[in-house]
Amino acid sequence: MLVSVKGLHKSFGDLDVLKGIDLSIEKGSVVAIIGPSGSGKTTMLRCLNALEMPNKGTIQFQDEFNINFDAAPSKRDILTLRRKSGMVFQSYNLFPHKTALENVMEGPVIVQRKAKEKTKALAESLLKKVGLAEKMDLYPHQLSGGQQQRVGIARALAIEPELMLFDEPTSALDPEIVGEVLRVIRDLAKEGWTMAIVTHELKFAEEVADHVIFIDGGHIVEQGTPEEILKNPKEARTKQFLDRIL
Ligand code: ADP
Repeated sequence: MLVSVKGLHKSFGDLDVLKGIDLSIEKGSVVAIIGPSGSGKTTMLRCLNALEMPNKGTIQFQDEFNINFDAAPSKRDILTLRRKSGMVFQSYNLFPHKTALENVMEGPVIVQRKAKEKTKALAESLLKKVGLAEKMDLYPHQLSGGQQQRVGIARALAIEPELMLFDEPTSALDPEIVGEVLRVIRDLAKEGWTMAIVTHELKFAEEVADHVIFIDGGHIVEQGTPEEILKNPKEARTKQFLDRIL
């Protein structure tokens, strides 16, 4: 296993959002996280790189790194976790006053203090990979939503994470440009990247995911292969959810 999560809890004030999440992610696999709105999908993903601080639980990366949230983790552990997981946000979160290239270079140069020239070459190759070779020097407002999201993906790849996290990466996009972003994610899956994707795109989940997790009310209700969860769900809540959105 690349990642093992045990007993993850997260509440906001009185609101218990994650009520004990146990989950494993195999190296090279694509995990799709589905479930009703408000069920805790985004919170779970954000906990996986400590954008939200879990109240309890552990996250283990293979045998080499374990972070425990039962007590406040050290700053060093939080930074290590963040370096191991790259997040692609629903709304891109690009820096508006930086070009596409500068946005991609930001993480390695500013946060990881890597050499600028080497990072520039890496950032250029990543922007090429996501089909933006011609757009590197443009600012976010000069790019379409789909192009901005592809910059967002290149930026997350630039820190060379072990796990890529996608939070509804296409939900802010017009339907006709959803495809170009899904194509990039599909290519990353073929290259063997380990990815966890919160998504409403069930057809995409069926096609790309190795493992589907259905969350409701802060619990994992059911998980398995796309075939098991999307075609032959066992739990009533999963069936209900699928009936509603299909
Ligand atoms: P999902 O991604 O499944 O739609 P979320 O994880 O975004 O669900 O949200 C789960 C619940 O947690 C919702 O009730 C939401 O309002 C609440 N929530 C999420 N983030 C915060 C926050 N920062 N402060 C307070 N409540 C939050």
